[in-house]
Amino acid sequence: MSAQKRMKGRVPVAVLGATGAVGQTFIRLLQGHPLFEVTEVAASERSAGKRYRDAMNWHEGGVPDAVGDLTVRTCDPGAVGAKIVFSALDASVAGEVEQAFASAGAIVLSNARNHRMDPDVPLVIPEVNADHLAVIDVQRKNRGWEGAIITNANCASTTAAVALAPLHQAFGAREAVITTMQAVSGAGYPGVASLDILGSVIPYIGGEEEKIEREIAKMLGRLHGGHVVHAPLTISAHANRVPVEHGHTACISVRFEKPVTPEEAKEVLLAWRGQEVCWGLPSAPALPLVLRQEPDRPQARRDVYTGLGMSTVVGRVRSDPLMHLRLVALSHNTVRGAAGGSILNAEVLGRMGRLPGVAEGAW
Ligand code: NAP
Repeated sequence: MSAQKRMKGRVPVAVLGATGAVGQTFIRLLQGHPLFEVTEVAASERSAGKRYRDAMNWHEGGVPDAVGDLTVRTCDPGAVGAKIVFSALDASVAGEVEQAFASAGAIVLSNARNHRMDPDVPLVIPEVNADHLAVIDVQRKNRGWEGAIITNANCASTTAAVALAPLHQAFGAREAVITTMQAVSGAGYPGVASLDILGSVIPYIGGEEEKIEREIAKMLGRLHGGHVVHAPLTISAHANRVPVEHGHTACISVRFEKPVTPEEAKEVLLAWRGQEVCWGLPSAPALPLVLRQEPDRPQARRDVYTGLGMSTVVGRVRSDPLMHLRLVALSHNTVRGAAGGSILNAEVLGRMGRLPGVAEGAW
């Protein structure tokens, strides 16, 4: 039975940072969502008090009617009443604001970097590590709050982590070199100046390589006694900004515990469906990983909306003269790598009975 048929009413949610690039993707993806209804939007003092449709340059088609007339609020638990809060806040403010909401009893689904590496905060791509959500029990005990902060990964870490997860589970990845080509929408709006990026490749994205190097080992780690033991995987990352609108591409060379052939790797990638708790949820793609066999795929222009932007597309799986394997992965940065990933995290929490007002098994 579909989740839509089972639900009597939708659960109210708020979007913090609703005026930004990721915030707008949240609003688009949550339009007509069968389980969640956006009842509040919030952003900075610059936007607060305006009608949502007048508060920003909108980039996602038409502003949904149901949200366009909402008044933008400040990002303060006194001003926002929803107990499920999606955060697309700038990292300069996300840390404290998200803590304030969790402390006020809200479940905060964050896209910001601030809390990702906190040992008691789960960093989750649910098909890869939904079981890590159990860490919120430790978080509540440590911090003495009723709410919780759940993070999803940096958008480029997400691309590479989904491609590596099935291979790591099957063969034990130990070292990887990851070179990314990241879309301009990954820098938010207005982001990189057009005169800097058109016709160019910028070989530096501040803080990005460090995030890729540390976040993937956490997500590929295993849960032990309520804590995540990071995977013994060392990563060397190169992050580049390229003149692509949406979609981060990652070229990955990887060494495993012992040699793996391209045929063995392809068999594993083709069979992978991710953790079962995600299956059939509204935002879960039928295939979290789509393997392309053509020699020139994936390509951002052609493949970024595979699975409505929620599938990671992998191709060019071949042997590597230095490491064991090489491959290329692509995923949509503001969908799979941000808003869509957060929404799927919330859907999984609901199915687990870990969202206020949603009984376990109801979804
Ligand atoms: P963005 O376009 O710059 O949007 C930032 C949002 O934060 C806006 O809604 C802005 O509101 C709000 N904000 C800024 N300062 C604030 C303040 N002092 N108080 C309250 N709200 C404030 O950035 P983005 O690309 O959407 O990224 C949002 C978050 O997601 C960041 O933490 C980013 O690292 C992360 N992320 C982004 C991507 C991506 O592909 N873009 C992927 C994964 C994760 P105003 O409009 O009112 O200024």
